[in-house]
Amino acid sequence: MRAAYLKAPFQFEVREVNLREIKPDEVLVKVMACSVCGHDMILASYAADYWQPFGHEIAGVVEKVGPLVKNVQPGDKVVLESGTFDRYSDNSRNGRVDLDNNGPNFWLKDNDPMGFADYIIVPNEVCVKFDGLSFEEACLIEPLGVAMDLVLTADIKLNDDVLVIGLGPIGLMALKLAKAMGARKVYGAELSVAKARIEMAKKFGADEIICTDLIKLEDYKFEKGGLDRILVTAPPKTIPSAINIANKGGIIAFLGIDYGPEGSITFDSNVFHVNKLQLRSSFASPALYFPKCIDLVKAGIVETKPLITHRFKLEDIAQAITSFRDDRAGGIKAVMINS
Ligand SMILES: [Zn+2]
Repeated sequence: MRAAYLKAPFQFEVREVNLREIKPDEVLVKVMACSVCGHDMILASYAADYWQPFGHEIAGVVEKVGPLVKNVQPGDKVVLESGTFDRYSDNSRNGRVDLDNNGPNFWLKDNDPMGFADYIIVPNEVCVKFDGLSFEEACLIEPLGVAMDLVLTADIKLNDDVLVIGLGPIGLMALKLAKAMGARKVYGAELSVAKARIEMAKKFGADEIICTDLIKLEDYKFEKGGLDRILVTAPPKTIPSAINIANKGGIIAFLGIDYGPEGSITFDSNVFHVNKLQLRSSFASPALYFPKCIDLVKAGIVETKPLITHRFKLEDIAQAITSFRDDRAGGIKAVMINS
């Protein structure tokens, strides 16, 4: 079978590899769709210092199961959780499964292939059955789970004014969820070059768009003066601005990565203090909420299909991911489709 590997800066290889035997508690999944995550782009750009498999937003069909597997059987359609909790840990036993991500997973195990491949071998725990969605819609359940974690972390309440900073796929889905959860007004912030993302934000119900290369967030006239909730799906250097524009009692929920020096930030603690703000981290590991996310997509409350702007085949992955990166105006989400 074939599997894709990457190495920084922006090198990709599709290799012929042998499929090993599955262990008694493992599942062989035929990958039908796998989407490109922002994290894959960071790995490809600078973070992957050795050749490694990648792809963790996966939908497929169960091909074979080990003798101990009870939760799925051959022929089942599944989406794969990108991380699980260890049910034996103290945090899990104390009811906080969200604080443990040491359960079985498929990340870089012996450099086994991941989602950008014909097949993937996974622990049975990560398989979540679905029906009624196409594979390309279903592979976006994983990032939708990330968006769900973000809006739940922000604790959005009826009539809140919400700002989403960064209108990538997760920001867009979070924006749609914020509306569905009763936000009064939802603002989206993005660079003006990202035309497709801005258009999608409007379709998903954004009331106003702020192009942060044209106006500073601090200079924007928000109807309530500021925001009750701010969802940051952008690098950490965005956090100081978010703190400056939050309303009293505001909650800022953050997910974003910068492995460089900009991973450290400073902000005005007096503003933070007197406005009684909360800065909360959202980190969707373990991956939770998949059944809820599947229901929401099936019900049309959040759509994943409109986010897919680029489709490609495994053999074209190098060229496809490079042209997706370069399409800053038109790109939202790229998905590999296997036949
Ligand atoms: Zn991802």
